[in-house]
Amino acid sequence: TAPIPPQEPIPPEDGHAWQRALRAQFPIVTGHPELAYLDSAATAQKPRAVLYAVQSYLTTSNANAARGTYTWANRTTELVERTRERVARFLGDPRPESSAVHFTGGTTEGLRTVARDWLPGFLRDGDEIVVPDADHQANIAPWREAQRLLAREGVRIRLVPMPYQSGSGDYDHRVLAERASARTRFVATTHVHHVYGGDMNVRRIREAVGPEAVICLDAAQSVGHLPFSVAELDVDFVVFSGHKALALPGSGAVWARQARGPAFVPGGWSGTPNTVGIVSLEAALDWLEGAGLDRIERWTADLATRLTEGLRRLDAYEILGCPLSLAADTAVQRRLGIVTLRHRAIDSGDLGFILFSHGFMVRSDHHCQGDAGEKTGSVRVSLHVYNTVEEIDRLLSVLASLP
Ligand code: PLP
Repeated sequence: TAPIPPQEPIPPEDGHAWQRALRAQFPIVTGHPELAYLDSAATAQKPRAVLYAVQSYLTTSNANAARGTYTWANRTTELVERTRERVARFLGDPRPESSAVHFTGGTTEGLRTVARDWLPGFLRDGDEIVVPDADHQANIAPWREAQRLLAREGVRIRLVPMPYQSGSGDYDHRVLAERASARTRFVATTHVHHVYGGDMNVRRIREAVGPEAVICLDAAQSVGHLPFSVAELDVDFVVFSGHKALALPGSGAVWARQARGPAFVPGGWSGTPNTVGIVSLEAALDWLEGAGLDRIERWTADLATRLTEGLRRLDAYEILGCPLSLAADTAVQRRLGIVTLRHRAIDSGDLGFILFSHGFMVRSDHHCQGDAGEKTGSVRVSLHVYNTVEEIDRLLSVLASLP
């Protein structure tokens, strides 16, 4: 068994040395210098600290949680409980003792859990829920299903579509404010859009729907990418995937504030939790905080800006969504590390293959968007702390070389 390394030192912000030191902690990245992984919005790579934490747990403490009277079982139980609190603190929850954290397999499962286990006890006949129409399907389908299931019981719920402004990659907040009514009691919103890359300014959504409505945040693209504060955001649910936040696939959580509506109690200790996923999540959150979420955010946003500025000089490309210089009336506060583009003549699938022949791993398709999403495929470049300026410059030069 490999020894568990002490917390690897993270140097101060001195030029790019800190980033190089962090990148060096991702074995899959450093092991493949000929490749550039630019698909972190799909899933992120794992630092050594996560790999070691998983190996250490499996070789020293593996047992079921809340079951036994022996050390390994007790350690596992403690680990699960400790990680609940870790998740709450990571999300900036000032009162973790009064909120709930439920572990899931990821965002899709988490949103479905809120829709199935909590929403029906909250909504009343005639209520309205606001559902964004160009979000990831994971944040659309569960609310539609809830509407169907409630209708069978005679409870009629109206879904209010929240449209995007064409071209800006931002919700149309004026439309939202016009459509919101006293019956608008639940809003499902994304935090950082997985195609357009913008931060959706949740505070403005809160202003539009008022203090009584419950806001459920799809934070798949924001947890692990920026400093998080549920207190500042004033939301009721935060749902995310561990695998996009440097932990293992099959991990994730729903955080519930428990202030508006009934308590969120999905299943409790029934069934065996994904202990290995939970171990990886604790290690990933520790690593991210140690690395510094503010500088991770700045680093990836700067790379995205560099790419966007470079693309603007290339006539053959169209950039989707969140622009860099924002119009005064747009509510998007900032662009994070996602840039989605199209070549005016080359099919996006073909562009993906061409880029891979040059060593770039990107996503090229429709990105699971809902009905109002992009009808033409596109290429998404999504970044994390291990990506480099050199990768972006190399990508730009390959893109520039295409006719
Ligand atoms: N929501 C958003 C915004 C996403 O980007 C994704 C994944 O790409 C999901 C939800 C679904 O996440 P998962 O596949 O981990 O359940």
